Amino acid sequence: MSENPLIIFGLEGTAWNLSAALVNEEGVIYEKSATYTPAIGGIHPREAAQHHAEYMAKVVGDVLARSREDGLKLDAIAFSQGPGLGPCLRTVATAARALSLHLGVPLVGVNHCVAHIEVGKWQSGARDPAVIYVSGANTQILALRRGHYRIFGETLDISVGNAIDKFARSVGLTHPGGPKVEELAHSAKEYIPLPYTVKGMDLSFSGLSTAATQAAKKHDLTDVCYSLQETAFAMLVEVTERAMAHAEKKEVMLVGGVGANARLGEMLNTMCLERGAKFFLPPRSFMGDNGSMIAYLGLLMLKSGASTPLGESKVRPGYRTDDVRVTWA
Ligand code: AMP
Ligand code: MG
Repeated sequence: MSENPLIIFGLEGTAWNLSAALVNEEGVIYEKSATYTPAIGGIHPREAAQHHAEYMAKVVGDVLARSREDGLKLDAIAFSQGPGLGPCLRTVATAARALSLHLGVPLVGVNHCVAHIEVGKWQSGARDPAVIYVSGANTQILALRRGHYRIFGETLDISVGNAIDKFARSVGLTHPGGPKVEELAHSAKEYIPLPYTVKGMDLSFSGLSTAATQAAKKHDLTDVCYSLQETAFAMLVEVTERAMAHAEKKEVMLVGGVGANARLGEMLNTMCLERGAKFFLPPRSFMGDNGSMIAYLGLLMLKSGASTPLGESKVRPGYRTDDVRVTWA
């Protein structure tokens, strides 16, 4: 590592987690988060943004205080520019711009999905994987090709995380439902057939979620949780396997909040073993949205010469993963 390693401050807040972190090339120096949990129902964009505004001073202040204590000089402010919920993105961008101006360091606008991928590679040791990115908002199967993370397959409607969370809410479980459904699935006794929808390389989860809700009126809840997971994850494994063959990748990496699910990891690992490929799973603390991943991609971008002038720092709620030119690989 160079004598003066770059230190980047990263700020995430696209949806439920407001999180700030300091990162250098060696690792995460410090991370502080505040989680928004909806009282009822799913994530409400304006409520989530209000939560972020309320906790911004505390979360950012703690990380800055820590950097002062340790005598660290920040080299840039990285922030989630998109995709994400508009009101949340605007709250984060406003704070990031203010910090950048106040400290007199460059701003780096980061694509949230690419940040999940890059922090995953950094933390798991994968070099050139087919990526399965599954979260509360996104479901994409990707691979790096000619300077972009190309999307080989993606959901045509809602994300797999959203499908599971919606089903969970419909049977009275609180948000986020993913971990609760995983827990209940352990006690299942039988598989109930549910709609399996893969169209070409794309996936659909909306009908599956509704069918699971209907099934829960007639069947044991644990059986439905299990069947929902088995069906959704089998769809994901099928598309990942085909993307891997198509892109000629010998590695698979799982990232995003749903990646915390042990059953999904197990199914992907089995598929990789059968194909002579290697499966990579980053540590759980890097799976859900976190500030460190934003700081880390900011670091890669800054090193490759990229930064974001104030006039180009507008939030991008629909920012596509394959829009990003990968200049650092
Ligand atoms: P993210 O948007 O990447 O922060 O991830 C949040 C999503 O991950 C939510 O939809 C959660 O329900 C889901 N999630 C978290 N843990 C698990 C788990 N163990 N099994 C399935 N989904 C999970
Ligand atoms: Mg995410």
